[in-house]
Formats: sequence, structure tokens, C-alpha cells
Amino acid sequence: MSSQRTALTPQSLIRSEIQALHAYHVPPSSGLIKLDAMENPYSLPEVVCAEIAALVADAAINRYPDAGAHSLKEAIRKVTQLPAGMEVLLGNGSDEIIQILAMAVAKPNAVLLSVEPSFVMYKMIAAFCGLRYVGVPLASDFSLDLPATLAAIEREQPALIFLAYPNNPTGNRFDAEAVQAILQAAPGLVVVDEAYYAFASDSFIPQLAHFDNLLVMRTYSKLGMAGLRVGFLAGSSAWLSQLEKLRLPYNVGVLPQLVAAKLLQHHDVLLAQAEWIKQERTRLMSALGAMRGVTAYPSEANFILFRVANATQVFDGLKQRGVLIKNLNGGHPALADCLRVTVGTAAENKRFIAALDDLINPLA
Ligand code: PMP
Repeated sequence: MSSQRTALTPQSLIRSEIQALHAYHVPPSSGLIKLDAMENPYSLPEVVCAEIAALVADAAINRYPDAGAHSLKEAIRKVTQLPAGMEVLLGNGSDEIIQILAMAVAKPNAVLLSVEPSFVMYKMIAAFCGLRYVGVPLASDFSLDLPATLAAIEREQPALIFLAYPNNPTGNRFDAEAVQAILQAAPGLVVVDEAYYAFASDSFIPQLAHFDNLLVMRTYSKLGMAGLRVGFLAGSSAWLSQLEKLRLPYNVGVLPQLVAAKLLQHHDVLLAQAEWIKQERTRLMSALGAMRGVTAYPSEANFILFRVANATQVFDGLKQRGVLIKNLNGGHPALADCLRVTVGTAAENKRFIAALDDLINPLA
């Protein structure tokens, strides 16, 4: 059947800012030691696996999930010391929560502000939702450049600010007083993204009651549930009841709800694993620090950022030796020749260090 209309092409229909984006790239990892995505490398004790198997066997997967995810929220409240009166909003991963927040404030000309380098999804989701993105450069040691950040806030009047605490991909935790100064100066919401809270020495959850423009976001992805996709936002009901309207009713499935709630009953197991990861982080840091030609940056997360002379060559060499990490070279200029390694098990980290040593100091 012939049509009178001009040919429809994606180029003519899709918004130009979407056409300009590159899809979030997830490299194949089959057969490799996977140290690229900040996953918890440990498996669960057999008894916990058996409990999960029984739960899944009985799950009503013919039914829609509990739209309010009451049991999971209750489990989250139990393990998170939320100040009185604070509520929880659930996301299919915290990525989805970033999107909900961005959609909620996306008036014409509204600004989403973050620092750079930081988590790339802040900028991408700003584009998805038609927000103008402003990235304020971090100082050369990756700390917050407070004067520059405050000046940008004054100039841009952002509706939404994201601060990853600790930051990805740099690994450092920003100065708490600098974050408080940003909270005081911000005319809009400030979301403190605590994706790496399990490995960090501080949190803004206790501050929720002190700032009416503060929301704290967390994910369980790094604590051993990356495959479940469960994240949450904590804050006052004044904000969360508005944001709830943008949450798709069944955004967290039956199985993720059940399994995450069960795993939170075994929170001690997950925290013990996080403790092992922190111990391994210390070992990995000193091994990297002792290596000639490597500059490693301090981390309060489950990964370490480091710089070498020829990052892409080192990244490729590691892959040939069976180790997949993240190559940050060629992205943000502040990350030239930078690589990011997720802390793995002791055996994985040893393999990584041996391969890196082999590449950097082949004749030693
Ligand atoms: N925030 C930060 C700072 C992250 O590094 C990540 C994951 N890389 C996320 C949020 C998203 O995590 P998820 O969607 O798995 O909850």
C-alpha cells in the first residue's frame, strides 16, 4: 500500500539530544574475571540460598507485585536508621529513581547540576528528560571545588543537584561540610547518592531532618543484589508523595521484592561481605601504591581509581590476561589514562595485581 506521507525516519522523529547520545555500554564479560561493575564478588551461604529457593518456589508470579512493596519497605526501614517521619520510595535500581526525580522537575529551562567526573547517568538522564545539565569540575585531587560549585549554583539556580557520596568513578567521599554548604545554598533539591554507603565512613541519612531540600538515595546493587535491581530514596513525605506519582505501579517485580526482603533479614551476612571487601580494598590499595608507574586514589567505595602511563594499552593487556576492569581513558579529560578496578575476592585481586605488574614492569 502506498502512502501519501513523507518517509518517516528516526532522524526526523527522535529528539536531536537523544540522537546525540550513546547508549550506556556494557561490555561482554564471559570467561573473564569481572572487576568492572562494582559488584559484590561473594556468593551467599547455602542456607540462605535454600531459603531463597523456597520463597521463589512459592511466589505468586501469576499475580502483579504488591504495588506498595510493603514487606520490602519494612525490611529496608529495619536495617536503615531513618530519622522519624522519613519515608522510602523504591526504584528498579537507583537509576530509575534518578529518572523519577528528573521527570518531576523537568520544567522548561530547568537545570540538573552535578560535579565532574561523576556518575554518567546524571547527565544522560538529564538529556532523557529535557533538563539542561551543568557539570562543575572537581578539583585536581577530585575533592569538591566549593567556590566554583557555589558560584554555579548561584548562576544556574538548579532544580536538582546530585552528589555521589562516595563519588563514582573517583572513589573519594566529599567533605561533609562542603556538602552541607551546598545544601544551604541550593535553591532546589540536593540528592546525596549513597550507592557505596556500605563501604563508606559517613552518611547523610541522619541529616535528613535538618535540611528540607535533602533526599538520600541508596542502592543494594553493590551490597550483593545487583541482579535484583532494588534502590531507594529516603526523605520527607512532602517530597516523596509527589515523586510516588511518577513511579510506575509495579516497578519492582514479585521476585526482587521477595528476595531483597529475605536478604535484608540476613543483613549481617551482607555486611560481613562488605567488611571483607573493605579489607581487600586496603590490600589492593597498598599493592597498587607499591607499584612503580601507578598512581592510585584513596577510596571509600568498593573500587579503586588509578592512573598509569598508557591506560588503554594496560586495559587491553589485562583483558588478554583474563581480567576485565573499566577503562576511563578518552571520557572526561580529568580521567585521562585512568582505570577503575572493582575490589574482587582475594584470589581475583591477586590475579589482577599479577597481570598488571606483568604489563607495567615486564622485566622486573
Ligand atoms: N549511583 C552511583 C553513584 C552509581 O555508581 C551507580 C551504579 N554504578 C548507581 C547510582 C546506579 O545503581 P543501580 O541502578 O544499580 O541501583
